[in-house]
Amino acid sequence: MQATEDLIRNVVAEVIKNLGAGGLGAKAYAAPKSFAGRYGVFTCVDEAVAAATEAFERLSERTIEDRKRIIDHIRRISIDQCVELGTAEMNETKVGRLKHKIEKLETLGRRTPGVEFMRSEVFSGDHGLAVIEHAPFGVIGCITPITHSLPTITGNAVSMIAGGNTLVVNPHPGGKKIAAEGVRRFNEAIYKDLGIDNLICVITEPTLDTANNIFKHRGVKMICVTGGPAVARAALNSGKRAVVAGPGNPPVVVDETADLDRAARCIITGAAYDNNLLCIAEKEVFVVESVFDKMMDAMDRAGALRLNAREVDAFTKVAITSVGEGEHKHDVPAKEFLGQDAAVLARGIGKNISPDVELLFGETDETNPFVPVEQMMPFVPFVRCRNVDEAIAKAKFFEHGFRHTAIIHSNDVRNMTKMGREMDTTLFVKNGPCMASLGLGGEGYLSFSIATPTGEGVTTPLTFTRERRCSLIDDLRILGKATPTPPLEKHGVSETKGHTR
Ligand code: NAD
Repeated sequence: MQATEDLIRNVVAEVIKNLGAGGLGAKAYAAPKSFAGRYGVFTCVDEAVAAATEAFERLSERTIEDRKRIIDHIRRISIDQCVELGTAEMNETKVGRLKHKIEKLETLGRRTPGVEFMRSEVFSGDHGLAVIEHAPFGVIGCITPITHSLPTITGNAVSMIAGGNTLVVNPHPGGKKIAAEGVRRFNEAIYKDLGIDNLICVITEPTLDTANNIFKHRGVKMICVTGGPAVARAALNSGKRAVVAGPGNPPVVVDETADLDRAARCIITGAAYDNNLLCIAEKEVFVVESVFDKMMDAMDRAGALRLNAREVDAFTKVAITSVGEGEHKHDVPAKEFLGQDAAVLARGIGKNISPDVELLFGETDETNPFVPVEQMMPFVPFVRCRNVDEAIAKAKFFEHGFRHTAIIHSNDVRNMTKMGREMDTTLFVKNGPCMASLGLGGEGYLSFSIATPTGEGVTTPLTFTRERRCSLIDDLRILGKATPTPPLEKHGVSETKGHTR
């Protein structure tokens, strides 16, 4: 039905174009081109932005109820097809763990806030009523990481469409096929039900050039970047309004009052999730001296596998490598271990361990590169500290000022408060695994784009909206009996009556 309408529209446009260019002697008429039927899959940035712009115009004519119906299709596919899509993502990206790839899609489908998160604010007072509504920006350009290729697109799509926007995505090249397949499925279902195509557009051969074209494109009204330091910098320098979900290196502090067995279970749950790919995942642990050895025992009891000092040294040599020259030289995780299972990491130093082990850990000092580097693999260094003040100071230093995520295990409210104040991070978790701060085991809502340098925090539909205020002066407040002083008189402005200027 809708496809027929699109066909008719294209034919009519073509006829008008031919008339305009020929018989009537008029100027050449630029036919409005429809991209319906492409299901959001594009090689060319200009075409993708044009299609997303067309989709935005059509979405703007629809009701909030229609937005909900659109989002319900994304949710349904994400939940019902999580095994198939999660497996395809795992096979393509080759990082992380299958179980978690599947779980992330299902959870995002269920828990990402949608249109129910949209709300207007009202100021009602002596001088009438002001309503603040949240309007869309238009087409949003998104850059997504390899660590959660389809999940980031799914979460962004739900939030952005709930806010009335459409999106053009430049995925990480290592996850481009699953990105395109997910987007194709979402759009096809939406188009067949509601007759709007290309609400989510994806570039099938993403490069740095296509990312830059999206950054610079006049049709792109806002940028949302989820990734590491280079892309975060590029987005901040783009000259466009940017929501930047940047890198983290979340430290954990364990003090002498902590429940050590609980702390160990939480650290394993968070740090081993998807083989430590989460930007919020526990990356290094600072433990006060008086409970250090007991904490290491608790990690053993909870099922993590401890490397001895010689093994830690050997593993550090193979798993961390240097890139860049001169002042730009810095350590990064070695690609072959990124997001791999603990057993693969152990094999790197000739150690055979059970495939059931989720996390490796070991004692290091702070000079070990695993402490400053965002390793994104399931090995976590534990550093001995004299007291909680030293632990917090080191945590702050090695978080690098990203102000992303920090975690404490403690039963001393003063220590918690001190660390919270010192770290000044977007997420601060107490006595839980990192993901509890995204509503997965804790309170609050979920998103996989946590805007740190630009400050929007855990993104929601409202993140992707502009405020618009609508004011009615002196009327529609239905409370109270007194007639208020007219505001214009009060401010010394005389009203003009009976004539026009
Ligand atoms: P990455 O930075 O290598 O790539 C992210 C995306 O940016 C990819 O699409 C990549 O192609 C693109 N990109 C990289 N450099 C670019 C440049 N100069 N210009 C334009 N585009 C560029 O990161 P990754 O390995 O895919 O993902 C892991 C990183 O993302 C980690 O640092 C992690 O902390 C971060 N991350 C942050 C969040 C968050 O919510 N804050 C969520 C997930 C991941």
